[in-house]
Formats: sequence, structure tokens, C-alpha cells
Amino acid sequence: MKARIIDGKLVSERLRGEIKAEAARFLAAHGRPPGLAVILAGEDPASEIYVKNKITACESTGIKSVLHRLPACVTEAELVGLIESANRDETVDGLLVQLPLPKGLDEKRILSRVSPDKDVDGFHAVNAGNLLLGNPCLAACTPSGIIELIKETGLPIAGKNAVVVGRSNIVGKPAALLLLQQNATVTICHSRTADLKSVTKTADILVAAVGIKAFITGDMIKPGAVVIDVGMNRFEGKLYGDVCFAEAAETAGFITPVPGGVGPMTITMLLKNTLKAAFARAK
Ligand code: NDP
Repeated sequence: MKARIIDGKLVSERLRGEIKAEAARFLAAHGRPPGLAVILAGEDPASEIYVKNKITACESTGIKSVLHRLPACVTEAELVGLIESANRDETVDGLLVQLPLPKGLDEKRILSRVSPDKDVDGFHAVNAGNLLLGNPCLAACTPSGIIELIKETGLPIAGKNAVVVGRSNIVGKPAALLLLQQNATVTICHSRTADLKSVTKTADILVAAVGIKAFITGDMIKPGAVVIDVGMNRFEGKLYGDVCFAEAAETAGFITPVPGGVGPMTITMLLKNTLKAAFARAK
């Protein structure tokens, strides 16, 4: 294997140490810990695991978390009522509504009710818009984690060709905007991109956020590229990325594994956003 592994678990642990110290500084200055409220509606098994991991991560870094569980039959009015009460709660700095919401609830409309200054997922149109404008904002967690992992290589981002495969609002688009902010020359690819391989082959930095197991093969990668695999595809009880790791590792310079790459960073960036929101609100 030629590529060097970018260890998301290790980077995450280091960042969580820094977050813990900052959370203690916040507590000392303001007499309360930074607070995260999590709303979980319904009983989606994957969401249960994600939420449990978020709560555990809060506990281990000194962020106070409160979990609000709602039944799958919750009405939009009830859910919005809870969001608005968390918006008003002075001890809540970050508020997230775990997705997906139960069928029949309008995710877009519901997420728009989260106060932008507490929107630690970075999904609100105000934060997405500010990211586009290059203004200070709470940026989406997975894309922020991607940038941290690329920086971990020690290679410059400025002036590099970055190709993002995937244009979702939660990964692809914000990842592209953050790379642009770092002065990369950015190309976004999607399902209608013609001759995808000819584009990915130009990438010094390749971000795969497609949602298809082993979609990016070795022949699609420029020798020496930094390859960030965002994919989390469950197959026969195992987790696979969007990149064919065995092939890619022979060509890339750096690569993130799945699991243990981008995954651990997402929650870490959620903690970081909660802290950022807490300090900003306390000003
Ligand atoms: P979406 O399904 O929302 O988006 C997938 C994107 O891939 C779309 O833009 C789609 O294009 C594009 N795409 C699909 N097929 C092709 C193709 N044949 N060629 C080129 N592009 C294609 O997924 P997400 O962005 O939400 O997630 C992507 C992956 O990242 C998933 O595996 C998900 O599980 C994972 N993920 C991991 C996280 C983590 O913490 N590690 C967090 C969030 C997601 P089009 O727009 O044209 O349809």
C-alpha cells in the first residue's frame, strides 16, 4: 500500500481534548457548561445509535446534553413547540433535530424553525447562506471535519484542484464551499456529470460523498492525491466507503479509512460548533 492513512479517530481524540479544555474555560467564565439539546422523534435504529454517540461525546467533553424523545406520531406543531422552547432556553447553546424525521413531517420547514445561532448542524438557510457569502457561520459538521482531515496531511489546500463527487446540501455543497474558502480550485460532480473519471483524475484532493459502495475505483484517482471517503454504506452488517480502498490506496498519497475516517470527525465538529455557539451567545 502506497497511501498514508489519515486517522480520523486519532485527529478526533486530539480535537476532543482541546474541546474539553475550552468547555471547562466556558464553565469557569459563565458558571454553566455549554449546552446541547437533541430532539429525537420516532425510533429509527440508526438515529438511536447516532444520538447515543452524540450524548456520550458531550459527556466526555464537559458539554451538557439534554435529549428530548418524541413519539413517531408527534405533530409538526408539537415538534415546533419544543424547538421554540429550546430556542428560548438560555442554557441551550446548540439545538439539533435528528434526521430523518418520521414520515409525514416536513423536514425543511421544521429545521427552518431552529434559531440560526443555535443551529449546530449548520443546516439552516441562514448558516448555509452565510457559508456561501464567506461570512462567519455555523458550518455543517461533516464538511468541516473533511477540511480538518485534509489539513492533517500537512499539504497546502490553496491552489490545489479539489473535486467533490456529490452535491447534497449536507455534505457535497458545503464541502465544496469550505474548500473554496481555503482557496482550492473546486469542481463539483454529480449523477449527471459527463465522463466523471476524466474529472476525478485531475483532483489533487478528491472528496467522495456519493452513497454507493466502492464507487470510486483506483483508475479514477490521480497518483498522490488526498482522498477523503465520506461514504457510509452498510452491506451485510459491515460499513463500506464510497471509495474502493484496496485500489485507491495503491494510487493515492493519503486516504481516509471507513470506518475510522470522516465518521468520528462529524460528531467532533458538532461539539466544536456547540462550543462556538456557546461562546458567541455569551458575548
Ligand atoms: P445524497 O444521497 O444526498 O447525495 C449523493 C450525491 O451523490 C448526489 O449529489 C448524487 O447526484 C451523487 N451521485 C449519485 N450517483 C452518482 C453517480 N453515479 N455519479 C456521480 N454522482 C452521483 O447523500 P449524502 O450527501 O447525504 O451522503 C453521501 C454519503 O456520505 C453517504 O454514503 C452517506 O451515508 C455518507 N455520509 C456520511 C457522514 C459521516 O459522518 N461520515 C455524514 C453524512 C453522510 P445527484 O445530486 O445528481 O443525484
